[in-house]
Parts: sequence; C-alpha cells; structure tokens
Amino acid sequence: MLFDPRPKTRREDLFGRDRELRMLKENINTPITLITGIRRIGKSSILSVFLNEVDIPSVLLDLRSLGTNYGLKDLYSILSKALSTKIDKFMEVLKGLSSVKILGNEIEIRWKGRDALTLSSFFDALNKRRVIIAMDEAQKFRGPRAIEILNALAHAYDYDRNLTFILTGSEAGLLYDFLKFDNEGSPLYGRYCFNLVVERFDRDTAREFLKRGFEEVNVDVEDEVLEDAVNFFDGIPGWLTFFGNEYISGNKKIETVKNIAVNLALKEIKNIVRARGRRYALVLKAIAEGEDTWSSIKRYVEKREGVTVSSSILSNTINNLEDMSIIKDYKFLDPVYRAASLKLA
Ligand code: ADP
Ligand code: MG
Repeated sequence: MLFDPRPKTRREDLFGRDRELRMLKENINTPITLITGIRRIGKSSILSVFLNEVDIPSVLLDLRSLGTNYGLKDLYSILSKALSTKIDKFMEVLKGLSSVKILGNEIEIRWKGRDALTLSSFFDALNKRRVIIAMDEAQKFRGPRAIEILNALAHAYDYDRNLTFILTGSEAGLLYDFLKFDNEGSPLYGRYCFNLVVERFDRDTAREFLKRGFEEVNVDVEDEVLEDAVNFFDGIPGWLTFFGNEYISGNKKIETVKNIAVNLALKEIKNIVRARGRRYALVLKAIAEGEDTWSSIKRYVEKREGVTVSSSILSNTINNLEDMSIIKDYKFLDPVYRAASLKLA
C-alpha cells in the first residue's frame, strides 16, 4: 500500500523510484555506495526494496539508535539484532567465529576481552561469499569509535572483494565528514564511492503519487485538496505518505493534518536545539522568517540575544545546519521544517 507509513520493502509499494533501483543495481560491484537525501525522502525504502530484490544475501544495520558516545557494545547489539533475523543465511560464517554464539534464533557477540569480535575479522569472515552490508543512517558512526570503523571499512575495501557496503545518510554533510574520502590522513582517503542522491518528487509526480495512493484504497479526494497538500508538503514522499495515511484514517481536515506534521517536525527541531544549543533555534527562526544572507541572520540573532555574536560561531552554526541537511543556501530543504521553525520560541 502506497500510504503505509513504514519504510517500503516491495517495489509495488514504492512509487517512482525505478531509476534509483536501477542505479543501485548497476553499481552493485562498487565497494561502497552512499544513498543520501533529506529525512523522509525514501532512502530506507529504496534500500530495503533493493535488498529484497537483489540476489545477494545482506545484513542491514539500523544505526538510528546509536547515541553520540556509543560503544562497541551498542554497535554489536545492533549487529546481533540484524544477524538474528538471518541466522539461516549466515550460519556457516557465524559458526566459524569464536566470538559469536548462536542460541536458538538469537546470536550473542562478545565485545570485550581477548576473544572479542573485531569488525575487520567479521568482514573477513563474511567475505567467504558475496554479501551486501547495508548501514542505515551511517553518519551515526561519528564519535569516539569512528576511526575504528573507518579502518575496518578501509580494510574491507582493499581486501574483501566479495563485500559491498551501502550506507545511507539523512545528514549528508555529516556522513561525508565521517567517511573523510578527501582527507589525506584518513583510512578511506582517495577511495571511490558511488553516491546516489535521492531527490524529492517533482509536482506532477507528487500529485500522481497521491492520486494513486487514494485510488488504491478507493477514497475520493478533491483536486483542490491534492493541490493544497502538494503545495504544503512539496514532493517529499514521507510527508505525502503521512498526509495520505492520516486522510484515509479519517482525518479529513487538511489543516489539522498539516498541524500534526508541523508539530512532529517541531519535536525533531527541538531535539537538535537541545543537543546543540539555543542559538540554533534563533538561526533557524531567522531563516524561517526569510532572512537569507549571512549578515541579516547575524543582525537578527544579535538583536534577539542582545549580544554581539562572534562571526566564527555563527558560521559554525550555519555550516552545521547545512551538514545536517536542514538548510542549504539559507533556505530550508523541507518546507515543514520551515513552518515548524516559525513556531520556535
Ligand atoms: P528516509 O529513510 O529517507 O527517511 P523512508 O524510506 O523512511 O525515508 O520513507 C519515509 C516515509 O515515506 C515512509 O512512510 C515510506 O513508506 C514513505 N515513502 C518514501 N518514499 C516512498 C515512495 N517512493 N513510494 C511510497 N512511499 C514512500
Ligand atoms: Mg531512513
């Protein structure tokens, strides 16, 4: 069903992404592929559909839960969860690892002590056969453990020819910053990767997506409502799906649906402000209100804070917001985030 709010896993539920699926297939022998694009654009859906269709066994790590100071234990519990769903496929490999125990339909991974698992040895073990290792929201690897993971990735890139890595990232700048392909001192320096950038639907595709979604469940919706939805949610599939799902669940007042969406986005923004500081809220609000130059944002923030703001700190804030794919060239990438930022106190 097109309006199912979970990430899609089957091609018939994934609208308008044949080109993206084809490109992933064409690059299946590239050691590292990146799938980037803003939140809700459909990265996880494209990835899952692809992994389900391709004839190669895969492990999918969902890294969303990794905190900023995650440890090996956190990482391995994600790995063990992913492998537990695929024990049959990877039985031979897992049996050969002394750091791994298979207990019924779950697996335990030793993360501490002398026979602890290392990522490199795990990759080498998987490499006995063709495997795709997918890592969803891989910018979450940033942090104290990043270098270890980069070393393991670089080792696999050079020696484990049977492995293909696919990494997604909603925060493209942070993902590139983690991988450091351009940084001479970094393990992955100079390596090639294929980057699939997932873009929003254009207006016609967005309208068509909504039409098809409503047709599928035999719900009649006036063109005006569709137009209004496309104007507000733009071509972002996640928001369009959200709208469609709310509507068919009985929430027929589009203004209410918009409000729920904005509040959802506001929660996400408040998490960023909590983690990064109050100034982020002011900068976001300035941009939401239409300030679109460096100096006008500076003036805005200084006026509200009542202090002179250091240029380097303001630059940092703006650069970070760009790296997180919230803004680009002083504009919001997601109109719902813009609407939510207007509500920041
Ligand atoms: P991302 O991983 O980029 O944040 P998801 O794959 O989780 O995005 O998609 C967000 C939401 O939008 C989910 O509800 C998903 O089902 C829906 N969605 C995304 N792309 C499509 C698409 N092409 N067709 C149908 N639904 C989609
Ligand atoms: Mg995702």
